Amino acid sequence: MKVGVLGLQGDVPEHRRAITAADPTATLVTVRSPADLASLEALFLPGGESTTMARLLKLSGLWTPLGAALSAGLPVLATCAGLILLSDRLEPTEGAPDPPTLGGIDVTVKRNDYGRQRESFEATVRLPELGIPAFPGVFIRAPRIRRVGPAAEPIAWQGTEVVGLRQGLRWGLTFHPELSDDRRITRAFLAAARARSQ
Ligand code: GLN
Repeated sequence: MKVGVLGLQGDVPEHRRAITAADPTATLVTVRSPADLASLEALFLPGGESTTMARLLKLSGLWTPLGAALSAGLPVLATCAGLILLSDRLEPTEGAPDPPTLGGIDVTVKRNDYGRQRESFEATVRLPELGIPAFPGVFIRAPRIRRVGPAAEPIAWQGTEVVGLRQGLRWGLTFHPELSDDRRITRAFLAAARARSQ
């Protein structure tokens, strides 16, 4: 299976390690230019800084072809900054410019909404639809999911708050499974993507 990791900025090596651990047979591609998107069966959008990623997506010429690949149904797992880029709507951040988004998931998110004093924390996440009752959620200056639109489906909760969702094979998480040693979410996503390409 040919699996890409958007490699412009962010925690790219951690995603590569997580994917290899979840499926040692996967062929990994670091996506830095439009040609790297060819024949991908799944793509990971890493965490990092969404404003920088959006800028580099435009500079690299990836913005439009990546949008087209997403519209064509390329399965994607987006964490944190990646989810921001896939959100259909952003609630404005006070006093700071927000990036443009590619969209693709019917959700409104607000960047950096957990407050400065708690920029990073760990908390248990539940993903009942994936059969995962408890997952170590690593949240780093995470966006908050403010409203889930009707086309998207929540899949992850921390307490009563939605922290992950999917719209078909576009999955978005506000936390970072690649920063824990637990590969269940990565494996579940790869299995769903594989089922589509077979
Ligand atoms: N705060 C970052 C942003 O707005 C996201 C943080 C992350 O990806 N861990 O892009």
